[in-house]
Amino acid sequence: MPEKTIPQPLYHKYLEGGGEMGERIRTFDWSATTLGTPDTWPQSLLLTVSTMLRSRFPMFLFWGRHHIQFYNDAYRPSLGASGKHPSALGRSGKESWQEIWSAVEPQIERSLHGESTYSENELVPMFRDGKIDEVYWTYSYSPVITEDGTSGGALVICHETTTNVKALKTIDETATQLQFAIEAAELGTWELDPKTNRFVANKRVADWFGLPHTPEIALSSAIEAIVPEDRERVSNAIIDTMKPGSDGNYDISYTVNSLQSGERRVVRAKGKVIFDQDGEATRFSGTLQDITDDVEIEKRKDEFISVASHELKTPITSLNASLQILQKLVKTEPVSDKFKTFTAKAGNNLNKLVHLLDDLLNVTKIQQGQLALSKNRFNLSELVRDSCDHISQGSDHEISINGTDELFVYADYRRIDQVLVNFVGNAIKYSPQSKKIDITLEQVGSDARVIVKDYGIGINPEKLPHLFDRYYRVDALGHQFSGLGLGLYISSDIIKRHDGNIGVESQWGEGSQFWFTLPID
Ligand code: ADP
Repeated sequence: MPEKTIPQPLYHKYLEGGGEMGERIRTFDWSATTLGTPDTWPQSLLLTVSTMLRSRFPMFLFWGRHHIQFYNDAYRPSLGASGKHPSALGRSGKESWQEIWSAVEPQIERSLHGESTYSENELVPMFRDGKIDEVYWTYSYSPVITEDGTSGGALVICHETTTNVKALKTIDETATQLQFAIEAAELGTWELDPKTNRFVANKRVADWFGLPHTPEIALSSAIEAIVPEDRERVSNAIIDTMKPGSDGNYDISYTVNSLQSGERRVVRAKGKVIFDQDGEATRFSGTLQDITDDVEIEKRKDEFISVASHELKTPITSLNASLQILQKLVKTEPVSDKFKTFTAKAGNNLNKLVHLLDDLLNVTKIQQGQLALSKNRFNLSELVRDSCDHISQGSDHEISINGTDELFVYADYRRIDQVLVNFVGNAIKYSPQSKKIDITLEQVGSDARVIVKDYGIGINPEKLPHLFDRYYRVDALGHQFSGLGLGLYISSDIIKRHDGNIGVESQWGEGSQFWFTLPID
């Protein structure tokens, strides 16, 4: 039965609008195709083309036995800058889609038999931009019913999802890589919802704590697995890290006792809190690392240092005594100048050795909580002056002292002197080019503050947070300056045990300013 044609003025209406593709469809020479000119097209075709042209959603139409093609402006970008556009318009599907025709044709045919299809994020490689491109689509083929009730074409309504699929693939790959890294590093991972206290963790954490492998872990059970002596410290650290105004960094080591097996482990938890605009914690997540072996090695190292330094103390003390006798003798006995030079040299080096040994012994005492303080009331300004007089004698650095003359503190004179000697000693050691050191004494509120400022090599600000750690040295290999990295650690412990504060300001190449405070008595 011949299909009904549309009266002349009306078919124009169907083909109005549609941007670039509307223009191309109107001006295309349809007489050269099996469809003939638009005035002879069935209304179903005109209506479908009209719907396509007016739609902002990508659509493609295969019409009739030769699968003659139409598409709209929304579909057009998917054909790329060079490729099938505009040649696909009015052409048969088979000619246009040679590379995937075997996959496309059956779907068109199903539509021509009245069936619909739906595919999601399907790979449909196509030739565009001068190459075969991996393109993903979510699309449906649906039949277009003509005036005689049969299907006259396949309307493809589609959406290119290449970007989404590739983004999902990237996320998947990243997640796999992350998982791989977590496994390789044997890390536990955890996340705490600050609003609900919902605590989730990976299997490793559950195993270490001796908790069941459930999607959610009761925070109270996790805390229960922490040894009693560490429990409060951990709870407080969690609360403090989530408080508004905190820097959000969580780093704490503690011991857990598996609730199942009783196995003990020392773990280091590191995490980060994310805050919203109102400063409220919204996310708290991190990792857990088993550091039991490291702690054991550290303990053995400490034990070794403790034993070695104690063993060294006796021979060094008697060496020192013998040397002192020798030094007296060379002054009174008739000996050659060489004797005097070498005993002086031996004296200097023995002094350095005694200082190094003292540092090691002090660390051992700090570790064992045995660094005793013997407190008296004294004028801190006098201590600074006496101490600096002494230091200046053996150095070509010029030390100037400014500020308050009377600052009384109740402290251990010898230990505070030790801190000052360390500060000034470092100021001399780390400023080989500049010879100036400024010491300021001042009262800040109810505290006395001593500032030692040098104009030496300075310190990279990134390194400052570690400066008071045990064995920490900025130049770890110690190529330029000798030392053990213990002086500041010992100083920090001494000052803290006096309820004071210790700190540093510095810039690389611009000198440093070390300070400590003590409560005024
Ligand atoms: P040591 O000087 O024996 O290495 P300290 O604990 O006294 O140990 O100092 C730790 C580190 O801090 C030093 O190794 C050095 O890198 C840095 N440091 C300390 N004082 C200064 C200073 N005045 N100028 C530059 N760097 C310093």
